[in-house]
Amino acid sequence: MHRPPVTELPHLFGMRPQDLVAHATAHGVTLRDDESRRYLAQHLSYLPGTRPPTRRPIARATVSALEATLSFARLTLVERVTDDADGFVKYLFRSPDGALTEAVRIPLLAPGRFTVCLSSQVGCAMGCVFCATGRLGLTRNLEAWEMVDALLQVRDEAPGRVGGVVFQGQGEPFHNYDAVIRAAQVLSDPCGGRISADAITISTVGLVPQIRRFAREGHRFRLIVSLTSALAEKRRSLLPVAGNFALEDLASALREYAAVAKGRVTVAWVVMAGVNTGVDEVEALGALLGDLRLRVNLIDVNDPREGGFRRADPLELKAFLDRLGALQVPLVRRYSGGSARHAACGMLAAIHCNDAAAVDVVEPSSGAR
Ligand code: SF4
Repeated sequence: MHRPPVTELPHLFGMRPQDLVAHATAHGVTLRDDESRRYLAQHLSYLPGTRPPTRRPIARATVSALEATLSFARLTLVERVTDDADGFVKYLFRSPDGALTEAVRIPLLAPGRFTVCLSSQVGCAMGCVFCATGRLGLTRNLEAWEMVDALLQVRDEAPGRVGGVVFQGQGEPFHNYDAVIRAAQVLSDPCGGRISADAITISTVGLVPQIRRFAREGHRFRLIVSLTSALAEKRRSLLPVAGNFALEDLASALREYAAVAKGRVTVAWVVMAGVNTGVDEVEALGALLGDLRLRVNLIDVNDPREGGFRRADPLELKAFLDRLGALQVPLVRRYSGGSARHAACGMLAAIHCNDAAAVDVVEPSSGAR
């Protein structure tokens, strides 16, 4: 689907140093590599008003030429709401074309440390049945600069250090592969967001060709693949688009990724009472991926709809954990916070949380890869 870019000019926030040099060259501007790095660092790496003085300023004419050929548009912050119960903060931004996008600042256990959950698309085309974003459908892909700017704005007002990013907000990151990888590259560049590549996680529902491409390209970013069911029919009913890939193909793509990844392969499992906690699921998971060094992240479903998917009660959850224990893989229960403010996994639906009527109307939630 061809769509004109959100900004007329290429955006600075979507560029790495080598991209900026190439851009300058294409416009007849001479820009050295070190100048490109300094220019980007001045705009992306430092909080407003805290740029260190440089003894080697870039020539005014060069700066003017760059300014005439680049976009510096910013997202507009529409709303910021805090879930007082757990400190999760949800941000709602508006792009220059009016599209709304969300990000969530997540406090870590270490005081003053945060990670930020970023969206990759406006809405989502994957249609996962337990997810509010899935019910929105897809409006458009986000551009790399929009993801980068969301991170910069959240980072710049965080009361501490933002040291990680997870692409797990609205959208399927691998359905917008090029822009997400570019955003991750800019965010991990020493002259960009300065976030360690190891601390950037991309979460996918399991698009097989893109997992293979990701493995081939050898990125240092982490990958989480949402499995949620290891039974083909059930997975297709829960994740209708991703479920169209044969589980054997998904497993083989994960083996390709495992061959190049450091550490364990992480799969996520959205736990739904009475749906995907049975013996059959655990046996199928063992048969499918038992040969891999695996880690399983368990995420409680977030579905506020009347009659929607429910979280497993403690008894059911314990029985599930006991069964999974037989696989002898690390199990991590992921806390999905911010649910009171519709900031939790699978609840992002571009709603205004301060508008109680809107909250009631918006269909619901849950999900999360
Ligand atoms: S869980 Fe993720 S991939 Fe599935 S519909 Fe929601 S946002 Fe899209």
